[in-house]
Amino acid sequence: MLNIKFYNEEKIPLEMHKVRIVQKLNLPPIEQRVKAIEEAGYNTFLLKNRDVYLDMLTDSGVNAMSDKQQAAMMEADDSYAGSETFTRLENKIKEIFGKEYFLPAHQGRACENIIAQTFVEKGSIIPMNYHFTTTLAHIVLNGGSVKELFTNEALKVRSDYPFKGNMDIAKLRDLIETYGAEKIPFVRLEAGTNLIGGQPFSLENMHEVRKVCDEFGILLVLDASLLADNLYFIKEREEKYKTKSIREITREIADLSDIIYFSGRKLGSARGGGICTNSKEIYMKMREYVTLYEGFLTYGGMSVREMEAIAVGLEETMDENMINQGPQFIAYMVEELQKKGVPVVTPAGGLGCHIDAMEFVDHLPQTEYPAGALAAALYIVSGIRGMERGTLSEQRDENGNETLANMELLRLAMPRRVFTLSQVKYAIDRILWLYENRNLIGGLKFVDEPKVLRFFFGRLTATSDWPSKLVNKFKADFGDSL
Ligand SMILES: *Cc1c(COP(=O)(O)O)cnc(C)c1O
Repeated sequence: MLNIKFYNEEKIPLEMHKVRIVQKLNLPPIEQRVKAIEEAGYNTFLLKNRDVYLDMLTDSGVNAMSDKQQAAMMEADDSYAGSETFTRLENKIKEIFGKEYFLPAHQGRACENIIAQTFVEKGSIIPMNYHFTTTLAHIVLNGGSVKELFTNEALKVRSDYPFKGNMDIAKLRDLIETYGAEKIPFVRLEAGTNLIGGQPFSLENMHEVRKVCDEFGILLVLDASLLADNLYFIKEREEKYKTKSIREITREIADLSDIIYFSGRKLGSARGGGICTNSKEIYMKMREYVTLYEGFLTYGGMSVREMEAIAVGLEETMDENMINQGPQFIAYMVEELQKKGVPVVTPAGGLGCHIDAMEFVDHLPQTEYPAGALAAALYIVSGIRGMERGTLSEQRDENGNETLANMELLRLAMPRRVFTLSQVKYAIDRILWLYENRNLIGGLKFVDEPKVLRFFFGRLTATSDWPSKLVNKFKADFGDSL
């Protein structure tokens, strides 16, 4: 989005694209919504899309594609081996990241499986700025453990620290000195740190991490799934890079990384993934896992159409006016909510707007799942589907006790180029109404609680008749309005 000043001085993110294909949406009436969430066991994962107005569950695989991406998909070369499509994607990776060797994989976690199987063994320790769910799972599965070396700012809900995704360098040195470099096959940096609110690391911080890695001979692995947001924030917030192009910043990041992997469901706005490196030795080690788990080396489980879309999507990621759409819409939403006192995670990150449920519904104990209750309540009053990131997403300990989460967040993801500003304004409006009526929101309890990944499939119910009280107040205030 261009830096356009409005005559009335309102700060509005202005889209640098037009919409040429649309998909019809429904907004079912509130009576139907309350029934739908009841049937979904108060779990937004179990809602049917036809009952959802704005789907803000995730940004994975749901970003809008461009006309050029769609056109490229028509030209895809479908052959088992020797595909032209693969060559195009490989060349684009080479051009943008400067990496000679590219391995395709069906999505981000598949890359993590390959990297973990190649490098992680029993007793391995992997330092990182913050974990991602699938990353952690693959490292643990291979006998390793994860050490998160985030700074003191990272978990503060309200902060003005621009780079909450930074790694604490002193902690990294300590860790290496405590365990020894031989236990540490690689250091992992995650761009646009997903689980702490899409928060970036600074390029200065990455240089410092690299310096330590060089000193001890440790590889540096970059998870570039949310790189687009991180690129934008580096250019926006880091003085030294204000005059650098996105392409130059990307190259500097890539040159500091020994291995880069990404989820094409996010980076490149398509579906798929891949790993690249300049080391032939590393490439040869990982290669066999691609043929074993993914597919032949020229597609790695991806459809050639998606590979074409990723190649074009990567090129479009080099356009600042493309990658700033998400962060600027999110910043707009965060600022509007903050002005009215709604507790949100600051500074605004990429990925989505994160509401602090611990404060929003501070009358609910964590054992009644405040973030889950808030997600259900927001769906009831708006038809908007968000994702709980709190105690519900944790697992009970071996004695069956709740593991209380550090933060209780409702994540409202902002798929890129998908929603309009009026839809975002609608979301803000309904959240503000809900905030004024937050005392009506009650807790949740499990009816059917799976042992693993309970947040995906678990079914809950309201601890009282609060949903119908919420509906009554909504109808009193909004009359016939949906
Ligand atoms: C989504 C994501 C992954 C996993 O990618 P999938 O394509 O969903 O398997 C890994 N790392 C980060 C930071 C992500 O956001």
